[in-house]
Amino acid sequence: MSKFDLVIKGGTVVTASDTFKADLGVKNEKVIEIGIDLCTEGAEVVDASGKYVFPGGIDPHTHMDMPFGGTYSSDDFKTGTIAAACGGTTTIVDFAIQQNGKTLKDATDTWREKADGKAVIDYGIHISVTDLNDDILNEMPEIIKQGYSSFKMFMTYDGLRVDDGTIIRTLMKVNESGGLACVHAENYYVIDYLTKKFREEGKGEPIYHALSRPDLAEGEAAGRAIKLAKIANAPLCIVHNSCEASVSEIARARAEGYPIIGETCPQYLLLSEDNYREPDFNGAKYVMSPPLRDKKNWPTMWKALKDNTVQFVATDHCPFFMKQKEMGKEFFAQIPNGAPGVELRMSLMYTYGVAEGKFDLNRFVQVTSTNAAKVYGMYPQKGTIAVGSDADIVVFDPNVEIVATKSMLHENVDYTPYEGFKLKGAPVVTISRGSIVAKDGQFVGKEGAGKFVIRKAPTLI
Ligand SMILES: [Zn+2]
Repeated sequence: MSKFDLVIKGGTVVTASDTFKADLGVKNEKVIEIGIDLCTEGAEVVDASGKYVFPGGIDPHTHMDMPFGGTYSSDDFKTGTIAAACGGTTTIVDFAIQQNGKTLKDATDTWREKADGKAVIDYGIHISVTDLNDDILNEMPEIIKQGYSSFKMFMTYDGLRVDDGTIIRTLMKVNESGGLACVHAENYYVIDYLTKKFREEGKGEPIYHALSRPDLAEGEAAGRAIKLAKIANAPLCIVHNSCEASVSEIARARAEGYPIIGETCPQYLLLSEDNYREPDFNGAKYVMSPPLRDKKNWPTMWKALKDNTVQFVATDHCPFFMKQKEMGKEFFAQIPNGAPGVELRMSLMYTYGVAEGKFDLNRFVQVTSTNAAKVYGMYPQKGTIAVGSDADIVVFDPNVEIVATKSMLHENVDYTPYEGFKLKGAPVVTISRGSIVAKDGQFVGKEGAGKFVIRKAPTLI
């Protein structure tokens, strides 16, 4: 019997804290040895010479097969995870949405049905709490025990949003039960007022999507949620920060010693409000919430990512075909909110983060993998390369130069917001629990091979 099932040979291993040359020996889905000149007899060998060997990417914010505005996001757990795998991501965490009047278990059952037997890489599931009462609060400890340890609340969107009472009660209950509360921070009333005003004024083009959701509406909601977390004495994660207005609130709270966590996404680092002005309804491609911001926010966002005000980069992957986007041809508020991004996250962050000198390789691993694993209770099973950890690994070639275009991607949608972006560096082999699932940008894995990840209490960073 051979010592290893798989050996990754001759690469430069990069973790959140170290960079060193070594081989990795994999057996029964785990890394079992890290060393020099490991025995390859009888093992499958991946030649990683001249390449980086990173922990597989973790995208902790996706929306596969998600109902929104009378339609569904166009990637399901099969197509969406194939795209993720081809892009070097080995774990996603998606959001199960609680339906009004239904239990949290109903939500997790619905999402497990969408994911189980379909996903090609591992997946965790957050819960979006939309309709809170005492029964739901009492359900939380058991749901957390089952591995659904994070709960997001929307502060905006009709039908999904919760009030401050729900936020404070959820913060307290989730924290005492060993989970983590999260918010989508935008001020509902500001957006509602401006949307109605623009409707009356006949302003329906995609740019008004951005103008109806000003950065201060995000900053206000983030600041309010942080104050509620302080009152509850609970940690809080603010997802998809887009601007200085919200990250300045996080920075202040963290400086005061409060456990506030922040996420951002490539679109808020690389795209801007100007994209909404593209002609022929092209601006609809970028309709997502929070909206893309004035580019003057970019330096602040990159700095926040570098200095750990923001700890990780997710995508908020929620694609819709242009045909679906046309539901809002007359009025921006009817455009389904969301855009694709799951497949390009690793290459974009390497190119514009590492290759452009904004941060180093170890920080790249932290923001694309390790920190999300810690915050969302998956570490050290996921998010690192260590003896005993799942063999979720991406072999990454830093010298590949390509131009992003829709036709090379596997996302089930007819555009990419990053069309024409120059990429330096790309994943060449993606390994999920010891099995090669993608090679040179093509999927070679198996439908249904992904497993549900039982997540535990957060490690705050
Ligand atoms: Zn989202």
